[in-house]
Amino acid sequence: MTGTAYGEVGFCAPGADPEPKHFCPGCGKALPFYPRYPWYFCEGCLTEAEDGDGYRLEFANVDLSGGFQWRRAGSPDWQVDGELCCLLRGRPVVVGEARMGGIVAQPIDSSAVWASPDPDRRLRDVTRRQRR
Ligand SMILES: [Zn+2]
Repeated sequence: MTGTAYGEVGFCAPGADPEPKHFCPGCGKALPFYPRYPWYFCEGCLTEAEDGDGYRLEFANVDLSGGFQWRRAGSPDWQVDGELCCLLRGRPVVVGEARMGGIVAQPIDSSAVWASPDPDRRLRDVTRRQRR
C-alpha cells in the first residue's frame, strides 16, 4: 500500500470548530468526521448502492491488507477494481477502499474524490445501463 491514492488535501473546514460534525449525505445520520472523507455515506446507505440496471451492489476489501472488490448482490464473482462509480438513490457516488481499511462511499462531485487523482486510478463506471 503506497498511501498516495488520495493524498493530503487541504479542506476549507471551519478551523474554529474543535469537533466538526458530519452527517451522512444520504440519510442525515450523525457520524464521526474524517477530514479525508468529508462527505462519506453511512454503512446503511452503502447497502442501497446500485448499478445502472438497478442491481444492488456489495463491496468488500480483497483481503486483510486492503484492496477493493465489488459484485452484484447474489453473484458469486467479485470484481477487483480501483474504485467504482455507482448509484446511491439515483445519484452517482464513488466507492472505494478506505485508507484506514474498510469501504468508503462519497458523492462523485465531492472535491475529495477529484482533488488528487491517482495517475494509476482505475475508476469503473457502472451508472449507465449495461443490459444488452
Ligand atoms: Zn446514511
